[in-house]
Amino acid sequence: MATILIIEDNPANMKLASLLLRNAGHTVLSAGDAEAGLTLARSALPNLILMDIQLPGMDGLAATTLLKQDPATRAIPVIALTAMAMKQDREKSLEAGCDAYIAKPLRYQELYVAIDTLLARGMPAAAGVEGGLRRTP
Ligand code: MN
Repeated sequence: MATILIIEDNPANMKLASLLLRNAGHTVLSAGDAEAGLTLARSALPNLILMDIQLPGMDGLAATTLLKQDPATRAIPVIALTAMAMKQDREKSLEAGCDAYIAKPLRYQELYVAIDTLLARGMPAAAGVEGGLRRTP
């Protein structure tokens, strides 16, 4: 499966997101703030990033802008995690370069669909189509 970096400052949200991703077979990397997340993104080059928008210090929008400006990390899909009530965060997250957004609280179906869609988009077409169906002979 994929290596996914979660950048989230709330320990309960981090725990839930990590559990959902591990249950789906992904390898999870985690960071509690934007600076640590950017460092990890550049060193580990994960397949996808879950980015909380509301972070202490640098927020998730600024962090995403930096990731999308950097040729080394530009292609990594970013899913913004936004507060349910903060509709403006969704528009801002897309403007900042996020590839998708999900409102918290996280629902596993929505999370899995967003992740699978973005991971498939990043693969060569044939691999994307066969990705979920591949069988070992
Ligand atoms: Mn937060």
